[in-house]
This record gives sequence, C-alpha cells and structure tokens, in this order.
Amino acid sequence: MKLPFWYPPILAYHRVHPDRAADTPTVSPEAFEKQMAILAQRWKPVSLSAIVESLEGGKPLPDRAVAITFDDGTQDNFIPACPILLRYRIPATIFLITGQIGQPGYLSADQIRQMAESGVSFGSHGLDHEYLPSLVQVELERTLSESKRAIENLSIPSEFISYPGGGYTAAVMSAARRCGYRGACATNRGFQRFPPDRWALRRITMHEKTVTPAGMWLRCCGYYGINRRLRAPS
Ligand SMILES: [Zn+2]
Repeated sequence: MKLPFWYPPILAYHRVHPDRAADTPTVSPEAFEKQMAILAQRWKPVSLSAIVESLEGGKPLPDRAVAITFDDGTQDNFIPACPILLRYRIPATIFLITGQIGQPGYLSADQIRQMAESGVSFGSHGLDHEYLPSLVQVELERTLSESKRAIENLSIPSEFISYPGGGYTAAVMSAARRCGYRGACATNRGFQRFPPDRWALRRITMHEKTVTPAGMWLRCCGYYGINRRLRAPS
C-alpha cells in the first residue's frame, strides 16, 4: 500500500529505559524492542543521510522508508538500545550533547566509537543543550562548529544537528548550513507532507504505547494527532 505522505517519517527517541523520566520522553526496552521488530518487518528503515540525499535529488527512497533518531546521547542508547538496533539491522542517528560525553548518565567516547564501528551515525545536539535562538551570532556559530568538531575528533562524521529543545530560527538554520552541516532535525511534530526543509526536518516523538503494527502505522502517518484531537477536543 502506498502511504499518504511524500517523504518518510523520522522517529525521535530519547531514553530507552525501564524508568520513565519526568522531563524526557522514555520508551521501555520491551516497547522499544517491539517497535524495532515492527519496523524491521513492515517498514524499510533507512539512514537520515539517505533521506537527505533523496531531498537533494539523489537516490529515491523505498516505499515505507523510515528513519530513527535519538536525542541527548544518554547511556541507555548503548545498552539496551544499540544491541536491539543491531539485531534488527536498523540504522540510527544519535544526536550528542557533546559537552556531556563521558559524564554520568551519558555515552562515553569509547561507547560512541564502538557504536560508530557497528554502523550507528552521530550528530550534534549542542555543546550543552543550548537553546540556539537565544545565542548571539558568535556564540551560535561557536556552538554549532565546536559540537560538530567534538564528534569529528573521535574520527566519526557529524553531518546533522538536532536543535536542542527544538529551537530554531532562520538565523540558526543558515548558521547550521555555514558550519558545514548537511541538514537539521527539529522536534516539530509530524511527518513530511511536502518536500520538507532539510534545515528543519520534522520528527515524530515515539512513546511507550505504540506496540502494534497498526499503532505504528497510525503514528508514522501522523494520524495519531487527529486521533488525539478527537479524543480530547480543544
Ligand atoms: Zn535534547
């Protein structure tokens, strides 16, 4: 079946952990495993870079292409998330708060290197999760380029950024381009209805409750938003 969108959904994960955090979206390892199994069986997981390449006029994407991303780079992305991704051969991009690399609760440089060797991609999520629109120009460019360099210093490419807190403006988008990124993820909800702006790729935040193929289809197609509005009309 041809899906009713033009460009594939990009899923946004944060923590994969049994304990839910109050301030960060969390999916339990069990639900994450079920979600990856559904994607592997019924979807065509592709890398973020394949999506951006297709936007640049490159190779077309398969039907039911979907990309998986993680924000913040917390420790749980290594265990339990990474082995599950590898088991189902699902490409993923993890956006690192580079100032937190090696800090308690966050991925270490060694874990990042190991994951990169297994095929996981990495990108920037700021030096310290800065809200980019509130930075003055010089600070903005420093944050964008130094966080990119921190990952490249591990001999790992850093082609994309996920705007911390989802904050961006036209100035942030053009600074990201100037600093050498190939594209950027926002946290704006939704799937790509139209050829999307690759400096503000929309994403779908993933939750615990999506554990059936039909649920995944609804979430990836953006219908969950309509469903929610019907249940709780505003
Ligand atoms: Zn974040």
